[in-house]
Amino acid sequence: MDLIDSVNRKLAALDAQNLIRRRRVADTRCAPLQVVDGRAVLAFCSNDYLGLAAHPRVVAALREGAQLYGAGSGASHLISGHSRAHAILEERLADFAAPHIEDARALYLSTGYMANLAVLTALGADSDAAIFSEQLNHASLIDGARLAKAAVSVYPHGDLAALEAQLAASSAATKIVATDSVFSMDGDLAPLPGLLALCERHGAWLVVDDAHGFGVLGAQGRGALEHFGLRSPHLVYVGTLGKAAGVGGAFIAAHASVIELLVQRARPYIYTTAAPPALAHALLTSLDIITSEEGNALRAHLESLVTQLGVELQLQRWDRPASPTAIQPVLIGSNEEALRVAAGLYAKGLWVPAIRPPTVPQNTARLRVTLSGAHTHDEVARLAAALNELEGAS
Ligand code: PMP
Repeated sequence: MDLIDSVNRKLAALDAQNLIRRRRVADTRCAPLQVVDGRAVLAFCSNDYLGLAAHPRVVAALREGAQLYGAGSGASHLISGHSRAHAILEERLADFAAPHIEDARALYLSTGYMANLAVLTALGADSDAAIFSEQLNHASLIDGARLAKAAVSVYPHGDLAALEAQLAASSAATKIVATDSVFSMDGDLAPLPGLLALCERHGAWLVVDDAHGFGVLGAQGRGALEHFGLRSPHLVYVGTLGKAAGVGGAFIAAHASVIELLVQRARPYIYTTAAPPALAHALLTSLDIITSEEGNALRAHLESLVTQLGVELQLQRWDRPASPTAIQPVLIGSNEEALRVAAGLYAKGLWVPAIRPPTVPQNTARLRVTLSGAHTHDEVARLAAALNELEGAS
């Protein structure tokens, strides 16, 4: 009984701080209009930025992939689970990254979380390595840095001067700078050109987690490297495939030698069952759409929705940090009020999650609105009107 009591005390402490999370059950496919816990809602919470998760061609490709390759891979990649579908996808992804990384190769992993663990634990495997981690990095980069043997220092958000001072003071044999490209809870962009210049000057790798940029940023949806026009053999790029690409998994693109090191040494790649090959097969169709006219139109529409929300939201008290991306936070502050506003929206049939610590810093609880190319202008207008009204009433 004591053991259970101690767990219950921890849960009670979370509850006292309004930090208990509740999962809602989506009864229907991921889309702006869905049924959740039996009730129709308009959702602004997924990372399905182009609406590919329920795209008929992607769904048909997944079915075809299952027919071709079966349901599961059966083993890890280095044993027998590496299928033709994985190999073809990796070639496509390497081509995708090739304009930005010399001698690029790509590696497909089951999740972005594991991709970040893989990169940082393999590149930062030695105790004479150093990882320089941006303050607002995603939990998976933070955890990768914790798992690595390298020394870790955190540099303040977007602060190139502070990072330069840390790089200059370091005598590490291997230096690795790790950053999100699009910050997942704020939507702002890292100053990647400045970061790459610093890395080149100090002989450091630049690891870019483009989870929220892949498929969305850049004229052809190649992501943050295309958006900023960057190219270097020292870029290590992580793109996730469960967000804009609509399916699941992630890839690392880097110089062929880095990828070979990962295949040989990255434990989150080696010691896990390969993702179902059907997912890799379906992702080929996602990539086709991302790079097509349809992809261009979806990105242009998404951009117009971001602009529309900026114009129509008329908030006086709640802060709206400038974000050029589909991630549009509304800063509320206290956990309690963020939950109350999210509940108010939900009562109006609008699903927007409240994000609380430790996902965001203390006292910065917020609504994380995410827009998708699948939303309509009318739907965004409904959200803006509801938020304006709720702020006025609170
Ligand atoms: N990096 C960032 C910035 C993310 O937001 C996420 C997912 N929320 C991940 C990595 C992890 O990706 P995945 O969901 O594929 O594990």
